[in-house]
Amino acid sequence: MATLEIRDLHVSVETEGGAREILRGVDLTVKQGETHAIMGPNGSGKSTLAYTLAGHPKYTVTSGEVLLDGVDVLAMTVDERARAGVFLAMQYPVEVPGVSVSNFLRTAATAIRGEAPKLRLWVKEVKEAMAALQMDPAFAERNVNEGFSGGEKKRHEILQLELLKPKIAILDETDSGLDVDALRQVSEGINRVASSGEVGTLLVTHYTRILKYIKPDHVHVFSAGRIVESGGAELADKLENEGYAAYVKGGASE
Ligand code: ADP
Ligand code: MG
Ligand code: MG
Repeated sequence: MATLEIRDLHVSVETEGGAREILRGVDLTVKQGETHAIMGPNGSGKSTLAYTLAGHPKYTVTSGEVLLDGVDVLAMTVDERARAGVFLAMQYPVEVPGVSVSNFLRTAATAIRGEAPKLRLWVKEVKEAMAALQMDPAFAERNVNEGFSGGEKKRHEILQLELLKPKIAILDETDSGLDVDALRQVSEGINRVASSGEVGTLLVTHYTRILKYIKPDHVHVFSAGRIVESGGAELADKLENEGYAAYVKGGASE
């Protein structure tokens, strides 16, 4: 069972006023087969954690470590992270001109599996995964992220998740900008992947609404760059009722 360990992670970004520390000692362990929700007010550093795990160059790790089965993830390139089995939904957020969804997915699968999937089997795999997400087959021929709606981007993320079968998946704000039907379909996709028991999921979200569909094993409250409370699914219910006010300095809610 693969384990992702984040140990006392401190991360800064360069701003006009100099380096600014955003993450201030994050500790978290995610094992294959577990679903963790990271919840917290806007600006608490949730996306910074996701971007840092993705290897975004803008974020500098000043101390701490991230290990996948004891191997230093922070020393890996973005590609190496993907090959090691760490999936980051925002890894390819940009448009990829001239590359269709279908070619993009096959290239990614080839990189991760170490060999090109057999074409006929692959076509079938993609078709089934798209049908499960209730995606129009024509979507596979569109260029990656070109003119994708918010909902299409999220479905494309979950399609990647289903096909690339990572060990650890980090999904940032997968619920934002989705209408109720899309939210349900995307959630069902995440649950399908999670129920395989082979993926550890780190679901980063500001809102509790996606947790109506996805039951996390662990919920962590993020505030001012670190985890300030951890619990089970009941913690999400408490956040739903009480908001984040208790966790924000001075009691102010966001
Ligand atoms: P969240 O995802 O919880 O809303 P973020 O990680 O996006 O929080 O942001 C945390 C804080 O770090 C915010 O104050 C934000 O302005 C700041 N921040 C994040 N990324 C950058 C960046 N690239 N440059 C400057 N400040 C940043
Ligand atoms: Mg510290
Ligand atoms: Mg964010």
